[in-house]
Amino acid sequence: MTAERLHAAAVAAKRSVAAEAASEPRSGSPWEKTNKITPAIPRADLRRMAYGRRAESRKILVRHAGGETFGFEPTKLPRCARCGQPVDTGVGVMTDGEKARFTGTMLCGSIWACPTCSAIIRHERAHEVALAIGNHAEKLRQAAADQWQKEHEGQQLPPRLAVSEGFGYYLFGTLTLRHDKTMPLAMTLDAILKGWTKMINGNPWKKAVERWKIRGFVRAIEVTYGQNGWHPHVHFVIFLDGDLDDDQQQDMHDWMLERWKTMVKRVAKAYKKQDGNPYNVAPNDEHGIDLQFKAGKDAGTKAAEYITKVQGDKGAVTLSQEIARGDIKDGRAGSVNPFQLLDAGCLGLSDFQREDLWLEYWQATLRRRCITWSRGLKEDMEVEDLEDEELAEKAESDELPGLVGYVVPNKVYKDVRKRTPELLADALEAAEHEDWQEVARLLPGGVILNDEQQDMIADGEAKPGDFLPGIATGIDTVSGLI
Ligand SMILES: [Zn+2]
Repeated sequence: MTAERLHAAAVAAKRSVAAEAASEPRSGSPWEKTNKITPAIPRADLRRMAYGRRAESRKILVRHAGGETFGFEPTKLPRCARCGQPVDTGVGVMTDGEKARFTGTMLCGSIWACPTCSAIIRHERAHEVALAIGNHAEKLRQAAADQWQKEHEGQQLPPRLAVSEGFGYYLFGTLTLRHDKTMPLAMTLDAILKGWTKMINGNPWKKAVERWKIRGFVRAIEVTYGQNGWHPHVHFVIFLDGDLDDDQQQDMHDWMLERWKTMVKRVAKAYKKQDGNPYNVAPNDEHGIDLQFKAGKDAGTKAAEYITKVQGDKGAVTLSQEIARGDIKDGRAGSVNPFQLLDAGCLGLSDFQREDLWLEYWQATLRRRCITWSRGLKEDMEVEDLEDEELAEKAESDELPGLVGYVVPNKVYKDVRKRTPELLADALEAAEHEDWQEVARLLPGGVILNDEQQDMIADGEAKPGDFLPGIATGIDTVSGLI
């Protein structure tokens, strides 16, 4: 069975996890920490933060949907407020000795509004972008090598044509709008999305594609909140099949800025204030666009980070940040990412204001696409096309096999998830150390599974809930614990 292999991995992982956990004290309010020392927060703290924020978001959304009655959730609760909810007869805690997770719970798969799923999805999306860029560079190398060989039959390929590192040309861009506190996010987000769609369609774009050898693009929407209100903006990476000299880069910059301005002006007409006057929705004249040209070797990692915000402004992110990387990007001075609005005291806002802003954000982003690829680019670059929800599920199940070491009754788990969500993170950390006694202390009323039971679950012969005595006998194992 897999147990020996997993145990060996656990011993190795224990050392690194312990070293990581020791590297940073737990103090200060979480949103301040995110702003100041983003790259140094250990995984355990990020996970606690994400679970805490998920519970806060749930609380706000439950209240919005009419509040709880007699312990029952409102029936029309949005999917992201149900994230982590048990879907089976018990919740298993499993680990491969390195990472731990719950099983028998659902994931909402919301990249916008779920502090835990967003981290998982962005991490996976980052991999996709890096993979696409690697494949793009290799395709260009292959084409160049074929061409060279046609012209130099029988000769040996020069070393520069044997490795893909020097191939691939990319434009990293950001498009912004002027914004102020009177502007609802639903409007500015709509303007950004429509402006972008208009920009990358029609004949002028087709000509641009030919002129600058545009292969395709990936674009992502990022939203921050600060003194001037909501600030949604577009980040994109354009894949180019050929190099651009300085003049060409300047030409492309000027062309895009003009086109962005024209398109935003066109969509802005639709947005009127209550008094009938138009909102001042427009790009900044000078800074409406930021374009950087990058080529070769490091572009893949950089592009992945750029699109999915896998690193803070101040330095490379370590493995320990993975779990909450949706949180990692700081806003500009005095501005925060939307998840930070779930932290008490954020930006000096009252709870009431924060909740209002969170609801506005959740509503404005519903059914909007956060990260999109130009038509055919994923296929061209041999990247699998998965929806956010599928991706979250896949990341949790495929890539993290492991054994279920503990099973907790739904009732206990749900209560912890709601009232003391950080303990879920602590339980996972204990599971990563295979300290099942500690897991049982944090999530009481469950069963520590023996090797045989673990194997039965791994082989699909049993479900974690089957080993809860209360399930089989009808005895309530959790009475007195809540
Ligand atoms: Zn979720």
